[in-house]
Amino acid sequence: MNGCPACLATFRGTPECPRCGADLAPLMALAAHAWRLRRAAREALRAGDFPRARGLAGEAQRIHDTPAGRGILLAATGLAGDPLHPISSAPTPSATPA
Ligand SMILES: [Zn+2]
Repeated sequence: MNGCPACLATFRGTPECPRCGADLAPLMALAAHAWRLRRAAREALRAGDFPRARGLAGEAQRIHDTPAGRGILLAATGLAGDPLHPISSAPTPSATPA
C-alpha cells in the first residue's frame, strides 16, 4: 500500500491520485486505522500486556503490512509466547533408549 493501486504512482498524501485521479481516501483511512492499531500495540507492549499487543499488531498487519508492524508483532509474539507453538514450554525430545 505504498502507491496508487490503479496506476502505481507513489502516494503524495492526497486523497486523489495525482496521476490517474483514483479515489485513495479509503486506502488512506485503512492505513490510518492500521497506524492507530500499531500505536495501541506499542502502548500495550509498554504496559506489559503482551497478548493484547500481539492481537493489535496482528490486526494492524492484516490491514497494512509494514516493517514497523512486523517488528511489533515479532516482539509481542516472543514476549507473549505463541500458544500454538510454545518455545519455552515445549518438551525437549530425548534420545530413545536403545
Ligand atoms: Zn493512480
